Amino acid sequence: MQKYEQKYEYEGKSKTVRGGTDEGTVVISFKDTATAFNGEKKEELSGKGILNAAISNHIFEYLAKNGIKTHMISVIDQTSILAKKAEIIPVEVIIRNIGAGGFSKKYGVEEGFALKNIVIEFCLKSDSLGDPMMNESQITALGIALPDELSLMVKTALKINDLLRSLFEKASIKLVDFKLEFGRCEGEIILCDEISPDSCRLWDSHTDKKLDKDVFRRGLGDVLSGYAEVLERLKRA
Ligand code: 5GP
Repeated sequence: MQKYEQKYEYEGKSKTVRGGTDEGTVVISFKDTATAFNGEKKEELSGKGILNAAISNHIFEYLAKNGIKTHMISVIDQTSILAKKAEIIPVEVIIRNIGAGGFSKKYGVEEGFALKNIVIEFCLKSDSLGDPMMNESQITALGIALPDELSLMVKTALKINDLLRSLFEKASIKLVDFKLEFGRCEGEIILCDEISPDSCRLWDSHTDKKLDKDVFRRGLGDVLSGYAEVLERLKRA
């Protein structure tokens, strides 16, 4: 690790980002810190970084093999990856296959509601503003993304949803919803950040048992046993 630890760049809630050895690269390290409700609830969960890195790396490799352009270059160690440095577009793209979480609360529907179509939402990435929901015209009006960039993000997010649904289905897991982040790199829009039980709702296909961060958010018990189960099932899928 030593040789990668150059200039300190950014410490996020669940990851740190440092400059990589080569220009245009960064080292992203997954932390054990779990946070919820805009950082109001915070705990160290020993081993979470290793589990999330393994799950996210597995998923990013699968997506890359299936034609999705991502920031991933290589795995450095159990908690760190070498990634392309990108200019993160500060919009969270949320895809929902089943009504749950914020959607259920906002629209007053029970969790597990069978949506008639896939829902796509956008939120501004801003802790100070509480990640407010935005529509496409607000995003382009504020110059956060160009119309072409936004349509590519939507098209890519829907393709990722198809790919992930079939991957998780093989692991007997329902992909309820998830959040993606994109960035600009060398004239392209690429998938950045992570895909893990911190950023997805994942329910057991048969029992609807929660295997994701809702266990932490809602204090439902052992958080990491669900994450470990997701990793094991993905490896077997
Ligand atoms: P909701 O809007 O229902 O709270 O979240 C929808 C989905 O996006 C969930 O899978 C949730 O984990 C993910 N998500 C939404 N906002 C964030 C965020 O700020 N960080 C992470 N890691 N995931 C988020």
